[in-house]
Amino acid sequence: MALKLGVIGIGTIGQEHIHRCNNILQDVKIVAVSDINVEVAHNVLNRLKIDAKVYQNSNHMINSPEVDAILVTSSDSTHEQFVLNAISIGKSVFCEKPLAMNAEGCLKIINTEMEKGKRLVQVGFMRQYDPGYCALKKVITDGKIGKPLILHCAHRNENVDKNYTTEAVITNTLIHELDILRWLIEDNYKTVQVIFPRTTSNSHANLRDPQIFLLETQKGIRIDVEIFVNCSYGYDIQCEVVGEDGIARLPEPSTVQMRKNNLLSTMLFTHWKDRFIDAYNIELQSFINGVKNEYLTGPSAWDGFAASIAADACLKAQNSGDIEIIKTLPCPIFYN
Ligand code: NAP
Repeated sequence: MALKLGVIGIGTIGQEHIHRCNNILQDVKIVAVSDINVEVAHNVLNRLKIDAKVYQNSNHMINSPEVDAILVTSSDSTHEQFVLNAISIGKSVFCEKPLAMNAEGCLKIINTEMEKGKRLVQVGFMRQYDPGYCALKKVITDGKIGKPLILHCAHRNENVDKNYTTEAVITNTLIHELDILRWLIEDNYKTVQVIFPRTTSNSHANLRDPQIFLLETQKGIRIDVEIFVNCSYGYDIQCEVVGEDGIARLPEPSTVQMRKNNLLSTMLFTHWKDRFIDAYNIELQSFINGVKNEYLTGPSAWDGFAASIAADACLKAQNSGDIEIIKTLPCPIFYN
């Protein structure tokens, strides 16, 4: 029987996930949606030709016996409460990143999930399923470049909207890097410092862009992450690992090479939904299978918490200009 999913927030990624559930993935059906704007929700369902119930109140949808599991794709600040509402009645949730706006919010989710006695939450850290990152991790764990010493990373978006702030660089964007790098090198963070280079004239008053995050891990690996969200040329994710015996780079996504007008060129993606399309498909199928088999294996609430502990320290470092400590807590057996 197909898993009956209810989706909260049907904006850009909500629509992407609805489309993949109904057209690409197996054993799943979207039976209900909710959004702050009910009219928009009806229009989206009509356009996607999907027959699902529209709820004005997301909590009514969460509580509906017609809905087996929940997909949270509403705005960042709404995630924590929707996840808590779902797991407190024992329903599984796939929650887009960030799990909550800070570590304290994530901890509430962890405590509730542990009280329920089984994993109910998967966080949308889809890079853990990206074939490129998986290949890069294998090179590292196979010992091909020796011990990792330094990581050089960049996350660049073509542009962002006017509501995006200096803090959102961390809570909305860097959070992906904080998760994937910890996963990649199997290490926890120790300190962070934030550097503000000259700001691009493509930015706006509430956003300092680009920013550089200098992280140190428990094992002494040094990481620099450039986040540049108005880079103006495309959506570009870079990761280079300098090891003691060699260097490994995240593979570029494969696009067609062209020779034309005296130029040799390859196309760059302009949007996250295209760059990570395989990862999104695999992560959501993994959630669906996990709920059906009563065994979730994807990025956990603990991963959401670990990334948020680091994000909190990054926010502090943005303001202080100092090197800030990132606390590490031992991961409970429940999440191993
Ligand atoms: P979006 O286009 O703004 O969509 C969010 C939707 O949720 C909007 O329709 C919004 O309505 C609605 N909403 C806001 N508050 C709500 C509430 N309390 N109850 C129900 N619906 C509510 O944003 P998006 O780009 O799709 O992003 C959605 C989430 O996914 C964000 O948390 C984002 O960080 C995450 N995301 C993750 C990735 C990834 O790579 N994993 C990529 C993109 C986005 P209004 O427009 O009326 O506010």
